Amino acid sequence: MRLSQQLFVTFREEPADAEVRSHALMARAGFILKLGAGLYVYGPMMWRVLRKIEQIVREEHDQAGCQELLMPAVQPRELWDESGRWERYVNDGILFHFRDRKGSEVCLGPTHEEVITHFVRKQVQSWKQLPVTLYQIQTKFRDEIRPRFGLMRGREFIMKDAYSFDATEEAMQESYAKMRQVYRNIFSRCGLRFTAVEADSGAIGGSGSEEFMVDAETGEDAIAVCHETGYAANIEKAASRIAHSGAKPEKVEMHKEPTPGAKTCEDLLKLFPDLGIERLLKTVLYEAVWEDHTQTVAVMCRGDRELNEVKLLNHLNALKLELADEKQVRAATGAEPGFAGPIGLSEDVRILADSSVDGAQGFLCGGNETDTHWLDVWFGRDLEQPETADFGVVQAGDETVCGKGKIEITRGIEVGHIFQLGTKYSEAMDASFLDENQKTLPLWMGCYGIGVSRVAASAIEQNHDEGGMIWPLPIAPYQVLIVQMKAGVEEQDALCAELEKELESSGVDVLVDDRKKVSPGAKFKDADLIGIPLRIVVGRDAGDRKVEWSPRSGGEKEVVSAEEALERVIAKVKAECGK
Ligand code: ATP
Ligand code: MG
Repeated sequence: MRLSQQLFVTFREEPADAEVRSHALMARAGFILKLGAGLYVYGPMMWRVLRKIEQIVREEHDQAGCQELLMPAVQPRELWDESGRWERYVNDGILFHFRDRKGSEVCLGPTHEEVITHFVRKQVQSWKQLPVTLYQIQTKFRDEIRPRFGLMRGREFIMKDAYSFDATEEAMQESYAKMRQVYRNIFSRCGLRFTAVEADSGAIGGSGSEEFMVDAETGEDAIAVCHETGYAANIEKAASRIAHSGAKPEKVEMHKEPTPGAKTCEDLLKLFPDLGIERLLKTVLYEAVWEDHTQTVAVMCRGDRELNEVKLLNHLNALKLELADEKQVRAATGAEPGFAGPIGLSEDVRILADSSVDGAQGFLCGGNETDTHWLDVWFGRDLEQPETADFGVVQAGDETVCGKGKIEITRGIEVGHIFQLGTKYSEAMDASFLDENQKTLPLWMGCYGIGVSRVAASAIEQNHDEGGMIWPLPIAPYQVLIVQMKAGVEEQDALCAELEKELESSGVDVLVDDRKKVSPGAKFKDADLIGIPLRIVVGRDAGDRKVEWSPRSGGEKEVVSAEEALERVIAKVKAECGK
């Protein structure tokens, strides 16, 4: 392919809203163009990348026996009423929905559990047809609260979604294990460094779930990892063992302490320097929303720990959880914000505690009275210990639950997510089959997503430098770039044409920069920006069949023979892009 014959434009300026390098570089290189918040045109180079990722995704799914299909993006509300998810998605604001000309409500699919369950309940009748795993690669629509980071969090994006259907729970687990391996193969083949982590199942529901995280400092997700034990979990889900000093304070009676203006643990530690953080318990007030009611929930935890709202939301089985506002705090405590505690809260407040309060003795907590705290409070003596569970955020340095290692916090970009859904959708939507004994049973489901467009962005987040993008060879728009120093010079024209032909006939994707009115300096700048991983420069020595070998990164420039350059490219492509 000749660059002189392509629409190819690069920009010096970064978009003003580019917060991460992948966004800035893709926009500068003309790979993407913003149409609106979270909406992008994929330019020709970008489309090549996306199709390469899709190809890898297809090959790995097909090889594992999955079948590709395509479902409509427009979905009728009725299906979502059957699964019970319409209200929740509308409430969250994530669903693009509208009425058609007949007045029927429809949405643009943010995901396809309902449609696939409908398809399978019409198609599958007998255990003899199972197991089956179906997938599609298609555009998804989500009216994200904060579309950002370019292709990372779009409102319209490309996803591969797969769904498995099995006769039993064990068989579902087998399908899930198979897909986990499919995912490992896909991300390895894309040339990404990634970590598979335990994950929360979120609104989709179900039991077991793992996410595939591309390791990147700029990732939106925090991950708890332990190198000693191999533990890895999304911070939303991660659990740890919290150290207690075991110190036993004197058993004096609980009493009020004046704490004027002391609203944070820091303020309180200044007032009570001998107490130690383990004896400070904080109480955080939330407003929890369910389908038919709301309630204020007070959650206690140790002063040095933070609460994990995902764990709380799951425990409460609520739709939404928000920090209580000042009015709600006053109604619950009768005091200014900053003095909430478990003793003397309004009766309709539900009290919970994070397991970090286990073993807290003689502690200090809010007095539900402005400028006042209670000190020397004991569970069991002064109040019952509230319902306690793990509601905490894991912190760096915590011990793993097994006690065999220490937790570190790293960051990642979620590119894939796999779930065991169980019978949640099949029961709600009556998707069943007849087993060997002619008994009607619900299908066991799994679902598996990959953000195809996000994979492309995360590859650049992981691989770039000052000069531009560095595409991993297997998903690069072209595998090799031939930079012709001066187009129109006979020897250079001839050698470029020969190299191009040789490489193409070996199945290599070649791009030749044969632009006429562009200086070598500008060509090299563009070459660095678009990040084609392998590079051959054809210049002055073309007559002697000598070229410069200068890969985009991780290699020295070298003058080699044209034959040697060809061999190197073909060997690299074979080594890195093989199945
Ligand atoms: P996130 O937590 O990032 O919002 P999610 O958990 O809602 O993602 P899933 O429903 O699990 O996402 O979707 C499967 C995959 O689709 C994700 O792992 C991610 O790679 C991708 N994805 C999700 N939302 C977006 C988006 N707004 N833009 C681009 N890719 C996305
Ligand atoms: Mg997810």
